[in-house]
Amino acid sequence: MAIVAIVGRPNVGKSSIFNRILGKRAAIVDDQPGVTRDRLYGETEWAGKKFYIVDTGGIMSETEHPFMDLIEKQVDLALDESSAIIFVVDGRTGVTPTDEEIAHKLRRSGKPVVVVMNKLDNEKQEDAMLGEAYGLGFDEVVASSAEHNTGFGEMLDFITSKLESEEFDSDDGEIRVTLVGRPNVGKSSLLNAFAGEERSMVSDIAGTTRDVVDSVVEMNGHRFRFLDTAGLRRKSRVNTDLEYYSNVRTYQAIDRCHVALVLLDAQDPVTEQDKRLIGQVLERGKGLILVVNKWDLAPREEKVGDVMTKKLIEELPFAAHAPRVFISALSGRSLGKLPELILKVEENRRRRIATSELNKLVKEVLVFERMPGDGKGHSLKIYYCTQADGAPPAFIFFVNDSELCSKSFKRHLENLLREMADFSGVPIKIFMRNKI
Ligand code: GDP
Ligand code: GDP
Repeated sequence: MAIVAIVGRPNVGKSSIFNRILGKRAAIVDDQPGVTRDRLYGETEWAGKKFYIVDTGGIMSETEHPFMDLIEKQVDLALDESSAIIFVVDGRTGVTPTDEEIAHKLRRSGKPVVVVMNKLDNEKQEDAMLGEAYGLGFDEVVASSAEHNTGFGEMLDFITSKLESEEFDSDDGEIRVTLVGRPNVGKSSLLNAFAGEERSMVSDIAGTTRDVVDSVVEMNGHRFRFLDTAGLRRKSRVNTDLEYYSNVRTYQAIDRCHVALVLLDAQDPVTEQDKRLIGQVLERGKGLILVVNKWDLAPREEKVGDVMTKKLIEELPFAAHAPRVFISALSGRSLGKLPELILKVEENRRRRIATSELNKLVKEVLVFERMPGDGKGHSLKIYYCTQADGAPPAFIFFVNDSELCSKSFKRHLENLLREMADFSGVPIKIFMRNKI
């Protein structure tokens, strides 16, 4: 999914526009505490295209950077990281010298830009001011009022027309893997351990404006594509200002991958950030392997492996099915286990249970169980079950009344399915459908 950035001077209405665009369809993918604004990026869809939208206004605090510096940096970052730009100017104050400078930078980049003149709450204002906005030198100018919710259709039509559709699900036999985890957990080291030793090649992927560089490595007779390693290798540029973009990029990589290796630090294994990341991997239907790195630094105590395993299961009950490995990217310890595990998890993600087996479950197991009900004599009846096409595995239970199914019963069904076949490292989706 592409990134669209909203840039402009403070107070022109960027965050109001951001909120309008996200509206009710919004999925805020991440909230980070300790920042002036807690909502800075989200996922949305327009005209069938999904994209991330970033409100650059809150990325840097003004106290840290002198004013002009701040805006310049913000605009540079937006240009680096995004595929299209919404440039907001204030329709009340009109175009200012700062706006001109921003425009100059944006024009030179060649990126698609829509100029949005905001706070044009009535038509009279529009006519008078819009000429100034055209004077900034871009073809696409839109009058908007975040207050009255006008101008957004035109703005988003233009933006989405400039985003290329991304089609990643071609089945070319490659396994797409992403390494994710907190900064400094060892992602680059692990990548280098894989890509460095083997004959590696670097390739560009079409379909994204930003240069995405993957490493393709041949192991165990399969091709593994490690995604977006540019973001990992471009270390020098990573600083706190970039963190929002790098978070979005992590989600982009998760979207593109088949299997995600979530790296945890042996010395401090499960932080809130880790939990959120692991939740996102599963929610997005991807394979999950928990990789505890820096195992060479793990406390030297008895049964340290068992202790860690217990901790991971306790802290991450929703990922208890995921394979766990303890490695050292530095010494190379246990790295050899990873290719096979990745292959296994991807196999699980594509696994199918025969319909006859599923209906054995319905007829021979569930028939003896106490079904959830409404307490008034109605209880759930399951007639049959099928597995939908595609990965990750999704099962559809045809029932008398889907409302009667409780969350805990769904979890129970999930456990039964996991007993029937190896789904380790893979989320399972369960749907109830009324049989008519
Ligand atoms: P940002 O600093 O660029 O993110 O700007 P904000 O979204 O925080 O908006 C700054 C101020 O302008 C707030 O008081 C908003 O309520 C106001 N504002 C935003 N959009 C409009 C608009 O379309 N019309 C009017 N009249 N006020 C607006
Ligand atoms: P990234 O930010 O996740 O890409 O992390 P890096 O790969 O840059 O690693 C951060 C630091 O941790 C570097 O100094 C690495 O040398 C160190 N490191 C990575 N893996 C290990 C490991 O397995 N053991 C130890 N002791 N240090 C490691």
